[in-house]
Amino acid sequence: MLKKTKQYINGAWVESESGETIDVINPATEEVFGQVAKGNKADVDKAVQAAKDVYVSFRHTPVEERRALLGRIVEGYKARKQDLIEVMTLELGSPVTKSDTVQYERGLMHFEAAYEALETFEFEERRGDNLIVKEAIGVAGLVTPWNFPTNQTSLKLAAAFAAGSPVVLKPSELTPFAAVILAEIFEEAGVPKGVFNLVNGDGEGVGTPLIQHPDVRMVSFTGSGPTGSKIMEQASKDFKKVSLELGGKSPFIILDDADLDEAVKAAVGAVVNNTGQACSAGTRTLVSEHLKDAFLEKAAAEMARVKVGDPQSPDTEVGPIVSEKQYLQVQDYIQKGIDEGATVVAGGLGKPEGLETGYFVKPTIFADGDNQMTIAQEEIFGPVMSVITYKDLDDAVRIANDTKYGLASYLFGKDQETLRNLAGKIEAGLVVINEAPRTRDLPFGGYKQSGIGREWGDYGIQEFLEVKAIAGFYH
Ligand code: NAD
Repeated sequence: MLKKTKQYINGAWVESESGETIDVINPATEEVFGQVAKGNKADVDKAVQAAKDVYVSFRHTPVEERRALLGRIVEGYKARKQDLIEVMTLELGSPVTKSDTVQYERGLMHFEAAYEALETFEFEERRGDNLIVKEAIGVAGLVTPWNFPTNQTSLKLAAAFAAGSPVVLKPSELTPFAAVILAEIFEEAGVPKGVFNLVNGDGEGVGTPLIQHPDVRMVSFTGSGPTGSKIMEQASKDFKKVSLELGGKSPFIILDDADLDEAVKAAVGAVVNNTGQACSAGTRTLVSEHLKDAFLEKAAAEMARVKVGDPQSPDTEVGPIVSEKQYLQVQDYIQKGIDEGATVVAGGLGKPEGLETGYFVKPTIFADGDNQMTIAQEEIFGPVMSVITYKDLDDAVRIANDTKYGLASYLFGKDQETLRNLAGKIEAGLVVINEAPRTRDLPFGGYKQSGIGREWGDYGIQEFLEVKAIAGFYH
């Protein structure tokens, strides 16, 4: 049993003021495998105070010093590779190969990106006789979800450290152990006392007091829309800056000139990635009426080929859904798809054969639906594809943008001019053409209800900065 029932506050592991704990469940076995502290407001108060005490000194550390710190974190992170992979496979149910190539790598990437960005990042700019300086915003409250335990935390942490802002992190109570390892990495790397504080617990017990704390100057949140909305409302009481990364219902548009086999592989991959638990998943697959039948036949075969099973097995591609609650939500959406008249062409309700224990679902494809159905409008957060047909490219753009979200979008085809033209018309923070790699210097964030602000690399660092204009500095 993994046990870490202390909080990391002011450079030390201390007992939680609550004395309570949270059980952490392995979604592949439904068994408790660990325990962390269930923190409370008193823990939050201590952590915020520690961060506040160190704010001024950390803000004024030379950029080179913060860069060196990030460099040491990169090395420390690499040294804990195996531990991170093991823990994310256990707590998230991420297939072990994905825990390595996706989960571990993403976390690393953000520390490397911040390290690189600091080489050229301009904290000062001269305009005539005047100076503009960008300064660390102050104590930042970070609240993160469970779906990419190191990615979602490290992209905020790397940016805050690069900017010079101390933080209090509240990771998801479903996947808290990756953050515990991060705390150990930071301790080893010499992150100054008070700059990083970890308070484990649930949303109400720790998230709410953190967001409400008067000394927190900024809240960086990743998670669901309803929680994001509550957070924004609370942060508005004393006008805290908010950065929100929320949900998505991203379109995957296949053009008629696409290589169909490649398009099918890419479209299925965009749905099953991370067991469908990705905010940027391309879950609305748009094909022309002309291509529909050929696409569905190949996509059903490809979906049936996807290996669902034990996350510890190296050939597993799709593991369990993270929790019973999320599992039931996915089932509920599949039921809604059926009730609203869409046709199941792969997967469907229930658990895959032989996987009765664990929160496993069947990777599913719906056809004959339209974009107004619940399964096309709401985020399912499971491996469920809704195939929707378009008449022409204007119709494809209309359907793609007919959503409250605007996080990502995917285009697949051959004609460059058509692809670029489409990219300009999609309302989303990210357009990926033909599976092009998303390099770490690209910003990430949403239009519309997918969020406010941008993360990753230098864009992420900007979020943790205030801008000061000093008129007459060079007068
Ligand atoms: P969630 O909103 O339930 O929880 C996210 C975090 O907020 C958790 O740490 C939780 O404990 C905390 N929280 C819950 N209620 C709170 C409250 N009232 N006050 C303060 N904190 C509170 O989301 P989740 O289920 O962990 O994650 C899934 C959702 O996150 C999906 O909707 C997904 O699209 C979204 N997401 C978005 C991105 C992105 O970058 N846009 C990335 C990953 C996940």
